[in-house]
Amino acid sequence: MMQPMRGAWRLGRVAGVDAYVHWTFGLLMAWAAFSAWQGAGTGLAVVLGLGFLAAVFGSVLLHELGHAVMARRWGVRTRHILLTPLGGIASLEGMPKAPRAELAVALAGPAVNLAIAAVLALVTNVTGLALFGLVDGLMWANLSLALFNLIPAFPMDGGRALRALLAQRIGAQAATRLAVRLGRVVAVVMAVLGLFFNPMLILIAAFVWFAGAAEARATSTHDAVGWRGEPRVIVFARRFR
Ligand SMILES: [Zn+2]
Repeated sequence: MMQPMRGAWRLGRVAGVDAYVHWTFGLLMAWAAFSAWQGAGTGLAVVLGLGFLAAVFGSVLLHELGHAVMARRWGVRTRHILLTPLGGIASLEGMPKAPRAELAVALAGPAVNLAIAAVLALVTNVTGLALFGLVDGLMWANLSLALFNLIPAFPMDGGRALRALLAQRIGAQAATRLAVRLGRVVAVVMAVLGLFFNPMLILIAAFVWFAGAAEARATSTHDAVGWRGEPRVIVFARRFR
């Protein structure tokens, strides 16, 4: 029996997919609790800070489930979903060959976050529910998750969608080459912005730079692409008081 996930705890089975959380996520929780305590110095602030973090990662989990459920509709199974401090990874057993299937799978994740943001916006507007700013914060977090992942940098969702659209016109191989090249341009811009604003962007840029080319290579040699990773910038540390 193979160990499914080293250094990760199993959260449970959601929509037929095993979900895990990496142990380093505990460090992120500790950091969030510490900074909430430093900021406001109240137990309530700590609880709200941790609750917000958990809700954001719940949204990331739903994003990954969006990919997994859409992939299943096209006959591709998902081995598991892993949550790390950098974001979520849905390990699909492959990608559907048809460009419109890849387009649907790529867009399903961001679509989930857009839907969550819309529901939360409706809830705050209709009921006035604020929960110390938690609802509003979560709405913006989901909006950012959707928009960030739609940046056309292959192998991020936006880049996959772009490749799928290009493949319908210029063929799969040329589309992948072009998507990887565009992704590298975006990666350079991200790395430069990361120097000034958020060092996490540099990690994402490195992922786009290396993973994009690696996956393109695997595609061109007809190896099975057995996984697909997605990093996400954690820009959602918020202070509650
Ligand atoms: Zn995604």
